[in-house]
Order: sequence, then structure tokens, then C-alpha cells
Amino acid sequence: MNSIAISFLKSKKADYYVENHSAVIFCCFKCSNQIKMTFDGNWECETCSESGNVIALNEMFEDQSTIRSKELFNPRKERKLIRDAFDKLIAKYPDDRQLKNLKARTNHLVQFLVNEEQERGT
Ligand SMILES: [Zn+2]
Repeated sequence: MNSIAISFLKSKKADYYVENHSAVIFCCFKCSNQIKMTFDGNWECETCSESGNVIALNEMFEDQSTIRSKELFNPRKERKLIRDAFDKLIAKYPDDRQLKNLKARTNHLVQFLVNEEQERGT
């Protein structure tokens, strides 16, 4: 079901990402709040109370004359950006041990949060 949703979001050039191999995260076409579509293809926007399946998603898309575009917060992309930023800074200041320490601590924290999230099964 979500492969249809992914095809739809791709065709509309909407930003999205897949969470835990099943849920699809994307921005609401109406209010740009982040929406999680569950494995069964159902979704609900907590901000504007729109909900439904892929067909309802298409209807909501058609209703919007101007799609509000807000960049989707993709945690994996964000993690990579942070890692790359640390690597650039470390390359620039190779003798800064505090910086290396901060990178290691940040990685450790992120990994901890990821594990915690997976244990909760979300
Ligand atoms: Zn909404």
C-alpha cells in the first residue's frame, strides 16, 4: 500500500522518507505539518484534522491551488548533515580535541536515542 503512496509523493515531487521500513513521513499539503502514514496506507494530520488513505491524499493535493512547501525534517538526512559538518570542522581544526570529543558524544547520544526509539517500536 505504501509503495502506491511513495509513487504518488514522488510524482508530486513531495519530500518524504520511510521510517522503520513501513511508515511514510511527509508534509501535509494543506498545513505542512508532518504526517505519518502507517503501513496500511492510512494517515491523519493532527493540525488540520485531514485524514484518509492514498485517494484522500490525492484529493487533498488536488484541492490545494498552492502547495505550502516546508522542508521535511528527515532525521537521517539531518544526522548526515551534522556528521559532515563535524568532519569539515575537524578537518579545519585537526588539533581540537574538544571538537572530536563533541562529535563522539553527539554520535553516542544519537545512537542511544535511535535504540530507544526502536525499543519502543515506533
Ligand atoms: Zn494538515
